[in-house]
Amino acid sequence: MSAEHPVRVLQALDSEADGLRAERDGLPERTRLREGIAELERIAAAREDAGTRLTGVKLQEAELEKEVAEAAARVASVDRNLYSGEVTSPKELEALQAELALCQGTLDALEERELALMEQVEGIEGEIEAMVARTAELHAEGEALRAAILAAEERIDGDLARLATQRETLTPDVPEELLRNYEKMRGVARLAGVVMSHLSNDTCGACRVNLPVKEVSRLRSGGPGSFGSCPSCQRLILI
Ligand SMILES: [Zn+2]
Repeated sequence: MSAEHPVRVLQALDSEADGLRAERDGLPERTRLREGIAELERIAAAREDAGTRLTGVKLQEAELEKEVAEAAARVASVDRNLYSGEVTSPKELEALQAELALCQGTLDALEERELALMEQVEGIEGEIEAMVARTAELHAEGEALRAAILAAEERIDGDLARLATQRETLTPDVPEELLRNYEKMRGVARLAGVVMSHLSNDTCGACRVNLPVKEVSRLRSGGPGSFGSCPSCQRLILI
């Protein structure tokens, strides 16, 4: 009998609506979307950093290219001198050979540095490529998540509208003073929207506190359909 009391039905409707609102606020897609947006921001910052590094390395590369060209020209020039046949004195030839070895050594070292820089450029370009791909992936994911959120919101809002209509139809059946009291208690944050409770094996069905025998008999004294309140959580108990 008590399950059919209109205030019980009202509580059931309100609790269902509370659940829907919590579901609407806590849609997992919303969390994932927020995470995606945060990742996009991190990627944008990392991309800017990579762009700055790339510009720096490319500048060094351009400088080094000039040095390599100069060193290569020096090697070629000494080489030409050495094998031109114009220099015949063994002492001079020996000096030229020593110079060639020195120039070649410089060129080799420069080319090695150039290779290292090229590898750095490749590395940074690879990083940027991966970031561009991840950005596109996140944008596509974001679009799908936004669509899913919209669909869920539409479904939930439809359910909430249906509950609101049911509530409107129901409230005239709830005694005025009880309704006023109920609405007031719905606003008490501590109760989390749950106003109605019941006795279940001498325990408050909402806060689960075991009530003293004296309290239980006092509550029951009103007979089925009477109201009392839980001495622990103050919720309304319908006998
Ligand atoms: Zn209680």
